[in-house]
Amino acid sequence: MVSSPKTEQKLYERCLAKVGNARTAQHPDAAAKETLLALRSQLQEIMDRSEFRDSALFESAHELVDEVGALLRRHYSDSCTLPYRDGAYYRECPVDLAHQRVGLSPEVRVLESKCSICNLDPEDCDHLPGEMYDGRECRSVITKAEMTALAIVANPRQLVTRPTSIPAGTPAELSAALGPKFRPGVQLCCDRCLSACDGLNRDFASATHG
Ligand SMILES: [Zn+2]
Ligand SMILES: [Zn+2]
Ligand SMILES: [Zn+2]
Repeated sequence: MVSSPKTEQKLYERCLAKVGNARTAQHPDAAAKETLLALRSQLQEIMDRSEFRDSALFESAHELVDEVGALLRRHYSDSCTLPYRDGAYYRECPVDLAHQRVGLSPEVRVLESKCSICNLDPEDCDHLPGEMYDGRECRSVITKAEMTALAIVANPRQLVTRPTSIPAGTPAELSAALGPKFRPGVQLCCDRCLSACDGLNRDFASATHG
């Protein structure tokens, strides 16, 4: 799908109007809660799509997703918990995940390619990629490739590979962090949305495709 910055701007404006309504709603309000829940992923998506193209829009969407998270956490704390599965907790709150500016991207090894002009192996012909020949641009066409690894990068080429779940720690680690009251399986709320935003995680910002 090809998306233009204009589309993202429109999406953002629609989100902004919805947050405006949620701000003034009489909480608890089932419809406002639904709206806020949906807004989390919508704003996360706008951030993903605008990050490297429109930093002003990215920052606006970031601020708005923090506000949505805070509204949800304040009025509907049950909507922002850490899922517990098979003895471990996971961070799956879209607001939290929107702050993790990393993702997985497949590393591809090219096994076979051909020249788009003459169909020979690009090693064996004299056409140069990017040059025009009789009005046609020479390109190397990959005909066979394999995926060799998943790389952790700050700008994944495929947005679908952004993490949707992050381990939140083992019961032993959580018990050490949370004190003796903690028992594995008790409901934990997402603290990200309770406290003020402490910034985006760009620990992988220097990681790019090799
Ligand atoms: Zn050629
Ligand atoms: Zn949260
Ligand atoms: Zn934030």
